[in-house]
Amino acid sequence: MSANPIEPAATPPFLPFTRPTIDEATIAGVADVLRSGWITSGPNVKAFEAQLSARCGGRPVRAFNSGTCTMEIALRIAGVGAQPTDEVITTPLTWVSTANIVLDVGARPVFADIDPVTRNIDLDRVESAIGPNTRAIIPVDLTGLPVDRTRLHDIAGRHRLRVVEDAAQSFGSSWDGRAIGSFGDFVSFSFHANKNITTIEGGCLVLNDDAEAKLAEQYRLQGVVRSGHDGMDVERVGGKYNLTDVAARVGLGQLPRLAEFTERRRALARRYFDAFDADFLHDVDCRLPVADFVNSNWHMFQVILPEAHLARRSLQRADVMAALERRGIGTGVHYPALHLFSLYRRLGWKAGDFPHAEYAGRNTLTLPLFPTMTDADVDRVVEALQSVLRGA
Ligand SMILES: *Cc1c(COP(=O)(O)O)cnc(C)c1O
Repeated sequence: MSANPIEPAATPPFLPFTRPTIDEATIAGVADVLRSGWITSGPNVKAFEAQLSARCGGRPVRAFNSGTCTMEIALRIAGVGAQPTDEVITTPLTWVSTANIVLDVGARPVFADIDPVTRNIDLDRVESAIGPNTRAIIPVDLTGLPVDRTRLHDIAGRHRLRVVEDAAQSFGSSWDGRAIGSFGDFVSFSFHANKNITTIEGGCLVLNDDAEAKLAEQYRLQGVVRSGHDGMDVERVGGKYNLTDVAARVGLGQLPRLAEFTERRRALARRYFDAFDADFLHDVDCRLPVADFVNSNWHMFQVILPEAHLARRSLQRADVMAALERRGIGTGVHYPALHLFSLYRRLGWKAGDFPHAEYAGRNTLTLPLFPTMTDADVDRVVEALQSVLRGA
């Protein structure tokens, strides 16, 4: 077949917004586990927990099959939901599980609007939302950018509130030189396939002491307590939340690469800032994230699209996503403001309650960012997004 002169130049392969990095040594290790005869929770989970604990300042850490049940269990250990009037303050701009678990334990979520610059919960609003029924705060480190831990724990301490850090996205982030997870109260991480470190599905909970760790183990598996060779008792209702050894082996292959992954993500994020035409974005009111290259693990790179500018061209976010997809670029939405989901509307929330979260929820766009992306990929995304916004 002769070359067709009107055929377009070969297009680069589709660029997803994220992609896990699983090396061959990990794949071989997983095969070994599969051949070993012990595939569910066992020695690999124990080894994974020990390494996680070492990264969390030696605090007790237990592994689970999600970064959702971890938060639910933390609330149960803290006794939150024991009274139906119990309240938990959190952000409306997060993955919906953060608020769903509050409902799950029988408590009521109380939302505090975000800071439009960090897009994380506004701690001034958290303080104003504290009342006689408040039991806990669940801050979320959106995109890996940490909520101010100094101020957070000061507020919690003064009001005697428990904290369950939803650090699902911030494994590898730090605050004041200390790794997230190595201090504070409960800290929950997720190892979902899209997170910076993955076990395919999974998560872990950092606890305060061995008594809490024992409770976490009971909630993890049907409330079972074993003793001696044949002793078994059940003291409370627990779930089915244990991690498999196959999954833990994936995590053991990921952990040694965390620093390298974080460094590469930071370098790619810097390149986004360098490549964007800041004056143009400012003129149309397309907002970049906080340029933090110290604390954040850059789990995601998100822009807030210029709603009014797009509306003048009769365009919405979905049109921008479709235009980028036609150029071979995948994007995501993390997240719509959750108080506007049907479930939460039925519970009384409505449009206008949290204007900053609603604006971000309507206009946020997650751009591709993952360790094996190239610098040229970043340039291609920036070029494509700016040309769409310019109406090319
Ligand atoms: C991923 C995520 C979770 C839940 O983690 P799973 O492991 O998927 O259950 C919770 N909160 C936030 C902010 C997340 O990004």
